[in-house]
Amino acid sequence: MIKQRKIKLWLSSVSLACLLPALSLQAAEKPKLVLQITVDQLRGDIPTAYLNKMGKGGFKYLLNEGVVYKDAHHNHANTETIVGHATLATGALPAVHGMIGNVWYDDKLQRLVYNVEDSKYPLLSANADVNQKTEIDPTQRTAKSSGRSPSNIQVSTFSDELMVASNGKAKVFGVSVKDRGAISMAGHTGKAFWFSKKSGEFVTSRYYYDKYPQWVNDWNAAKPMKKYHQKAWQLSDKQDNYVFGKQDDQAWETKFPGFGRTFPHQYGDMDNAYFNTFLTLSPAGDELTLDFAKAVVNNEQLGKDDITDYLSVSFSSTDYVGHIFGPSSLEAEDNMLRLDRTIANLLKFIDKKVGLDNTLIVLSADHGAAEVPAYLSTLGMKIEVVAPKTWDKTPSMQALKKKFGMDKALIKSYFHPYIYLDRDLIERRKLSLEQVQKAVAMEVAKFDGVALAVTSSDIEQGNTPQDYLHTLVGNNHSKNRSGDVYVVLEPQRFVADMEGLTVAATHGSPWGYDTFVPLIFAGFTINDEVVYDRVSTTDIAVTLSAMLGIKAPSGAQGNILKKVLDD
Ligand SMILES: [Zn+2]
Repeated sequence: MIKQRKIKLWLSSVSLACLLPALSLQAAEKPKLVLQITVDQLRGDIPTAYLNKMGKGGFKYLLNEGVVYKDAHHNHANTETIVGHATLATGALPAVHGMIGNVWYDDKLQRLVYNVEDSKYPLLSANADVNQKTEIDPTQRTAKSSGRSPSNIQVSTFSDELMVASNGKAKVFGVSVKDRGAISMAGHTGKAFWFSKKSGEFVTSRYYYDKYPQWVNDWNAAKPMKKYHQKAWQLSDKQDNYVFGKQDDQAWETKFPGFGRTFPHQYGDMDNAYFNTFLTLSPAGDELTLDFAKAVVNNEQLGKDDITDYLSVSFSSTDYVGHIFGPSSLEAEDNMLRLDRTIANLLKFIDKKVGLDNTLIVLSADHGAAEVPAYLSTLGMKIEVVAPKTWDKTPSMQALKKKFGMDKALIKSYFHPYIYLDRDLIERRKLSLEQVQKAVAMEVAKFDGVALAVTSSDIEQGNTPQDYLHTLVGNNHSKNRSGDVYVVLEPQRFVADMEGLTVAATHGSPWGYDTFVPLIFAGFTINDEVVYDRVSTTDIAVTLSAMLGIKAPSGAQGNILKKVLDD
């Protein structure tokens, strides 16, 4: 690969007379495409853990040829999918971009809402909404409408700024199995497509189109998922060659009826109600996402002219596999090897279509992952999951009753990590909201597994200590969406009961394993370098903007990562 940056450095280091050609070279040096790859639930250490078993062109290419940040973290407490994606997209903290959780309580609607639901913009496809019976993602089930849009994102994204700077000529696309993984990155001005587990199609909403482009209809009509009909997810290597080769069947893995806990995991018949769900619980979900992303590039002619286009591909399989089998499992290990092949395939395709020299690549993750407590226990760390259902709440309720004359009625909703109080009731009874919050927080802090309970009054009045945990909780605080009390659980501990589905592992804490993500810039003029400084995921959108010479998104708070620009 020709390293254009080296040419530029040489030019700028010679006489002043050479500055003009140097500048003109710089002007032509904009990438034709920005490719933002996000892996859902990829802790920063995972890609290197299996690197020696990976092939060429995927993680090896990115890690060997790119600027690799070894200590990149999200700086918010609620390390969930939409929170992380919106941060990657906007360079803002959740306190500013407003996506404070996959779900929050909407006071006007008097119910929990799903982050990207928007009844104004129904899906373009019939019968592609959330199937309440078979949907395993409990956050999706909170949505009352099938409509989706980015309207809840309160600031601009990098992709929006690219669109603005090009007077709408940039082509901006976001693709993911998850709606929130696609919508967040495409911003307010791009186009987003995601996978409907109900219909087995890539779909979008009326926010983006009045009708599907013909190529999308064609892609869906070809039913690409039928190649998995009656097939199974098999190991890609000999079982003995895996770190977890002897532990295919671990007691804590979720036994999904029909999919099982051991290889081969059968996809079954494509008419089965769970067939599409099984695809998402395996590398097949990422393979389909790749296939659709290629169709976007081909049909929308991305990277073909001098105006920089943007493609976001968010791979979701790692998240589902991590939840169901745990990050330390044979399934997660094989999924990483398969993801590596999927990324290699994507990069090879982009190289052919656009050229990696013309493509600025950035890879990161929306959050990391916790290890399964039972797995840690086998290694000597005695850890248990947290089970709020088993908490003896009677003494706390009695204390609240004694203090305020009420107990349960004060609490409207607890959707971890936020407890929402009934503010109308508190006002009607002329109670002090601040005192009720404090009392509830004090009681919650007594329960097993709770490390900290922080009130919104304390955050808003600046009364919290300036330590690491409180800072991350504060960074997550948006006045109208965050709850009255933020509950932080102890390290390595989490609630495994996801509204009926018991998962092996999850994420969502402010602890290091959840905030730690990979961050790699590669392609274009990037030279390889490893950086050990601690950096923030809010730096990404700011750095991309600086690379493109455009203004940063409206709420961006990160710093320019200079090594990406100057190395
Ligand atoms: Zn997840």
